[in-house]
Amino acid sequence: MPEDLSTQRLAWIQQSLQQLQREGLQRQTHVFAGDQAALLQLDGQQLVNFGSNDYLALAGDPRLRAAAVAATQQYGWGSGASPLVTGLRPPHRKLEQAISSFEGTPAALLFPSGFAANTGTIPALVAEGDAIFSDRLNHASIIDGCRLSRADVHVYEHADPRDLERRLAASGSYRRRLIVTDGLFSMTGDFAPLDALAGIADCYDAMLMVDEAHATGVVGDSGQGVAERQGVADRVDVRVGTLSKALGSAGGFVSGSSDLIQWLTNRARPYFFSTAPPAAASAAAIEALHIVRSEPQRRCDLTARAAELREALASQGWQTGRAAAHIIPVVVGDPVRARSLSEALRQRGFFVPLIRPPSVPEGHTLLRISLSYGHSVAAIRRLTDALGALRSGTPG
Ligand SMILES: *Cc1c(COP(=O)(O)O)cnc(C)c1O
Repeated sequence: MPEDLSTQRLAWIQQSLQQLQREGLQRQTHVFAGDQAALLQLDGQQLVNFGSNDYLALAGDPRLRAAAVAATQQYGWGSGASPLVTGLRPPHRKLEQAISSFEGTPAALLFPSGFAANTGTIPALVAEGDAIFSDRLNHASIIDGCRLSRADVHVYEHADPRDLERRLAASGSYRRRLIVTDGLFSMTGDFAPLDALAGIADCYDAMLMVDEAHATGVVGDSGQGVAERQGVADRVDVRVGTLSKALGSAGGFVSGSSDLIQWLTNRARPYFFSTAPPAAASAAAIEALHIVRSEPQRRCDLTARAAELREALASQGWQTGRAAAHIIPVVVGDPVRARSLSEALRQRGFFVPLIRPPSVPEGHTLLRISLSYGHSVAAIRRLTDALGALRSGTPG
């Protein structure tokens, strides 16, 4: 194809990018050199990393590295095929067993990512003639899974069981109903009211699916997530999680009944049309689950430090909404103002990412502080002081 013709056909992209730039919404990627740690190198500057989902500081843990190296030596790196063909290796199966034991469910299934777990599972559960009830702030992978399913999607107001119930009552007759929600919401840092949702699911004979991506390993007495914290773990039919956040590895999973897992093995397209993850990633995740079990102080310390930081920010007058865990949003609203705040923090040695639409609704641009067990108490105090100074306008 002549290049000028192609350039003409794609001219709309340049215009759209310019539009994003004008609105302060254009995204850029940065390469961060160095090791997985609470410290980042960016353009020669050292920054404390408040932007990672490595909540338990396991991504760089020597024990995970060693497990991955040993598995690579034994099984090679790539797995070569889908798990339904020849891609499944002993560490994958062992990890599925470790996940079901950790979750206290009969079975679990490993996916290439948490994103794939959602886009594969939802269309396996519902189809045309069925209805989904989905929280307004659910993760993009849940939204995409809903779209792929071709079921009718009823979006209920964020974390609002009364609105959910109203919509269920008004929804008429469907073959099957599915209620789906994040456990801990990744942008607002608040919990879904799972106890209320479980009651409503019983009343309306709906399946309940909870994505614990940000909570797995951190929230709940044993780290199962928000459902455990709210005492309703055994009332959640479909539990989704990721190995890529607090567990410091890569991959996603679904846990639940043996029938559910058998069904997903047969029907979840990203499970069998995608190559199995490297066995080494599973070996590292097995090690991470051991550590979550044997070192509960990681999640206890993290939870306590997050509570202190939320209180300090609230007393400085920042809006942190209903944040209740280790993800703490500082809601600014205007993207341009939020960007200058993020840059001011960077100058002071802190990386705190800017979260703009479409990741959050228009007008809700925020700085998202992800706390990790790897942050020192001193670093958190320095961040608190910097935000306090920026709030009151004095140079910090
Ligand atoms: C991050 C995230 C995912 C995707 O998990 P990956 O393993 O990173 O693909 C899914 N759901 C929620 C709620 C998430 O926050």
